[in-house]
Amino acid sequence: MKFGTYVFEPKKAEGFDFHLFRVKPEVGRRLPPVPDMYSNVAIFGDNVTARNHPDWISQSPLGPAWRTNDQFNLRWDVLCATQPEHRAEQLDYIEDVSKRSPGVWLNSIHFADHGHCTCPRCNELWKKSGLSWFEWRKKEVTDYIAQIRERVKNELVIGLLPDPVNSYERFGIDFDALAPYADAFNVVMFSKSYATPWYWEMLCRAFKKLLKKPVYVSFYVFGPGDDPREVPSPSELITLSVRAGRTGIDGILYLADKASQIYDFQKAVVDKVELRQRLRTYGCQEVLDFFASWEKIVG
Ligand SMILES: [Zn+2]
Repeated sequence: MKFGTYVFEPKKAEGFDFHLFRVKPEVGRRLPPVPDMYSNVAIFGDNVTARNHPDWISQSPLGPAWRTNDQFNLRWDVLCATQPEHRAEQLDYIEDVSKRSPGVWLNSIHFADHGHCTCPRCNELWKKSGLSWFEWRKKEVTDYIAQIRERVKNELVIGLLPDPVNSYERFGIDFDALAPYADAFNVVMFSKSYATPWYWEMLCRAFKKLLKKPVYVSFYVFGPGDDPREVPSPSELITLSVRAGRTGIDGILYLADKASQIYDFQKAVVDKVELRQRLRTYGCQEVLDFFASWEKIVG
């Protein structure tokens, strides 16, 4: 297994195999990539572009994909996945980012959710395609990823939302169709509580079974602007990591706003000696050895 940080600033916490920097998260702001951190780019979830081009927002029978639309679980504004100017601009942007970092990890590569997108352009494209609605959406998503693959000469990792069953119907995502273009997949499993690790362990097993490329999962440690009383406890994250690790996944990333919050997490993990002892019978010594390696970093 490999272990990474997943951070909003270009700063590396010690004690990890690699680092993923959010050069363009879904809020849409952009920061320059750095040569020794992978770059994370959200494509269609993009608040800045949605604000500048409100007519590019994805449409559906349940309303547009503004983050205020409670019909969907949208945390940000999502653009129409066939908007040609945005697609072209993002292709150039992703190519540029890939040249200035070791590789690109993509998020938000897909349609906003079920029923999207019903804008006039999408309706026309769909009808012209002669395909079923779902197959047309899959083709749009897959073809765009193929174009990105041509531009990115180094590592390309595709981010997925944690729905192993309905991603095709909801987002136009076909895991097998995307696999040839991906060096790996990253399933984001963000939550402010991991009180019931059983569910997350089940999701890890499901994705490991389904995906035909290495599977990373990303866990939530501390997000921008979070109240420290409302983030997952270190104990939850330790237990979760061990239980995810024993499913055979290939790596875990830990999301934090800042590298200093990763360091605080490492300190807390090292302090939980008794819990780490107790988890030795759980069947994932690799994660426990990784945590133990932090003893010399925070000591
Ligand atoms: Zn559309």
